[in-house]
Amino acid sequence: MARLKKGRIVLAAALGIIALNVVIHLALLLVPNDPLKILEARPYSQVYYDSNGNLLQVTSLEDGERREKLAKKDISRLVKKVFIKAEDKRFYFHHGVDYAALTSALFQNLGGKQIIRGGSTIPMQIVKIQSKDNSLTFGRKLHDIFYATVIEAKHTKITIFEAYINNLFFGHGATGLASAARTFYGKTADELTERELCCLAVIPRNPTSYDPIKNPENCAQRACELYNKIFHKKLTPAEFAESLPKQIFSYPYEAPHYIRYLRQAQENNSTSSTSITLSINLELEKYAEQLLNDALLQAEGSRISNASLLLIENKTGMPLAWVGSAQFFDDEHNGQIDGVLVKNQPGSSMKPFLYALALETKDENGEPLFTPASILADIPQEFGEEKLYIPSNFNNRYNGPVRLRIALASSLNVPAVHILNTLGVDNYLEKLYELGFESLRKTGKAADLGLALGAGEVTLQELVQAFAVFPRDGLTFNNEQVYEQDTARLICSILSDKGARALGFGYTQTFETSYPSIFKTGTSNQYQNIIALGATKDYTIGVWMGNFDGQTVMGKTGSSLPAWTAKKMLDFLYGEKGPSGDKLKEMQFLEPQNFSKQKICSLSGMRAGPDCTATVYEYCPNDDEYHSQVCTWHKKVDGEIKTLYPSEYQQWARTTKPDIQINYNTAPLYIQTPKNNAVFYYSQLNIEKQAVSVEVFGGAQDTLQVYYDDIFYDEISRPFTFQLPVEKGQHTCTVVCGDETDRIEFIIK
Ligand SMILES: [Zn+2]
Repeated sequence: MARLKKGRIVLAAALGIIALNVVIHLALLLVPNDPLKILEARPYSQVYYDSNGNLLQVTSLEDGERREKLAKKDISRLVKKVFIKAEDKRFYFHHGVDYAALTSALFQNLGGKQIIRGGSTIPMQIVKIQSKDNSLTFGRKLHDIFYATVIEAKHTKITIFEAYINNLFFGHGATGLASAARTFYGKTADELTERELCCLAVIPRNPTSYDPIKNPENCAQRACELYNKIFHKKLTPAEFAESLPKQIFSYPYEAPHYIRYLRQAQENNSTSSTSITLSINLELEKYAEQLLNDALLQAEGSRISNASLLLIENKTGMPLAWVGSAQFFDDEHNGQIDGVLVKNQPGSSMKPFLYALALETKDENGEPLFTPASILADIPQEFGEEKLYIPSNFNNRYNGPVRLRIALASSLNVPAVHILNTLGVDNYLEKLYELGFESLRKTGKAADLGLALGAGEVTLQELVQAFAVFPRDGLTFNNEQVYEQDTARLICSILSDKGARALGFGYTQTFETSYPSIFKTGTSNQYQNIIALGATKDYTIGVWMGNFDGQTVMGKTGSSLPAWTAKKMLDFLYGEKGPSGDKLKEMQFLEPQNFSKQKICSLSGMRAGPDCTATVYEYCPNDDEYHSQVCTWHKKVDGEIKTLYPSEYQQWARTTKPDIQINYNTAPLYIQTPKNNAVFYYSQLNIEKQAVSVEVFGGAQDTLQVYYDDIFYDEISRPFTFQLPVEKGQHTCTVVCGDETDRIEFIIK
């Protein structure tokens, strides 16, 4: 009876203890403060690798510390073994407090010895690290004990160990074992040897006195003791000292602009990933930096003081090299500014986007408005209605009639403005937005017809991404077919045409590659910005050179340096010998599908006739009428071939090529200048010396009657140009040629 009663009491007591434990456990779970959670919320350094696994950067935290994350799954058995043996032998068996160790520490303390980490378990140390309170009072100890049990109640052992190993402070700016491994040994945590781990395990006890660099003997002494104890060895501290680190790892700072760009973008949509592999290729990045610095040396004495480069892969659009400035830490030249993202006027480098739009615009009958063989008039012209816009060419020379292919490849200005004037600024802007030129939403509209020549500001990043649509058959990186496939192929054909470039650039080596490539250059603001875009089937590259602060330094232009740099970079990508065999075949730009090569007159762009003096083969639309018409410019008269230019070229011919003949009968009679309703502001001084110049084109007869304010003024013969006297007020001018007539009104103020 008594035994039974006793048994019941024992059972009740046991149940009571279990219940009490459960209650305590539940109570601990309810404690709101959790030092481990607070530590876990601390930021980690981000570790960036290039596509080949080369370390690019380990970012510093706000306090200047580096703290790489060592995730649970990556903590090796060896790491656990060393740190648990060193700090908390009974880690797996206690609930946060090791009373045996604590008691022993207390007795040592009573014996007059100083408490170092007297009996502190790993969870107790976590509490200490989180509170940053190292005081050794009794109350402090109770606080640590209480929260250590809270941590144990709330988390698994491995989570506790992970928090511990990631928050230990090692000195030299390293927090956490992963950063310590990198800082002291240039290794990852799992690459550390037993001895190296023992060395690192003693440092957190006192990062100053066990600093392996500054106090190697001290560190070796303690680490050796630990090593001998854990691994049952008998090394001397002197022998052990060989395993100490000799110098601090020098952290790389590669691809600084790109990583900064990514981090800024990431702030808006935070990622928890701490180890990031980029598309950047460190070897290419380094070579690009080198090229830019070389180019800047060559540019000495010019207006160029900085440079940037962006190289992307056409398959993905991801950057392989992103160099924002030649030297990131060059404050004198604003090295921290990222030239890839700065908005600049792109100049002629924008022209391919305009010509591509032209090539796929149809007239009301569904016929193409422009083809590569279309003739554009490169002659002095005025455009615009409210604001007169008079473009001139790079070298102030006008080339008369030019085929569209040559106008683009040689970067002539008047034909580009003519095309934009024909297509409409709004239509072109819409296409540019589709291409990703978001920057132009601010400045595009105001640039007006100047857009044809690259006014309006865009970034190098936008340019490179957009230029890649040509080798990508018209497809953007958002997978939108922004140009027809054939259009993209025609542009590639034109921009890789060495002959067509010659009018603008001469036969230059700058764009000579041993593989198919396209190039387009641009300058703006008196060489303050020089841009080159280049591409192959595989890659697209953009190089900007100029100065960030907009200062204009007189001197040589250095205008070919970006193109030189772009070409060098592409050459480097294909190796010294360049591509060959199947690779080279694969790199050919494809032929447009709805065009076929036809023999055309190189002057008129029409189908070549028997009298044409020069012919070329050009892609013509399979069903286009203009090109099925035989050349009307070349004619045999009395056994001699004559070249007759259409009448719109009469003024250009008179000033530039007096010996050529004009075919006046090709157009109806019209007054070319001034435009109807033109307004002139004339100076009051020397009024008698001023005059209104009138230019009349077309007409079937060779004489012209002129009426000024409806009064007969003069009869003239070809060319039909004359001047009218200036008098304030509203005027009319009427011209009569045979049975044709034209009339304009204008105002002189
Ligand atoms: Zn001809």
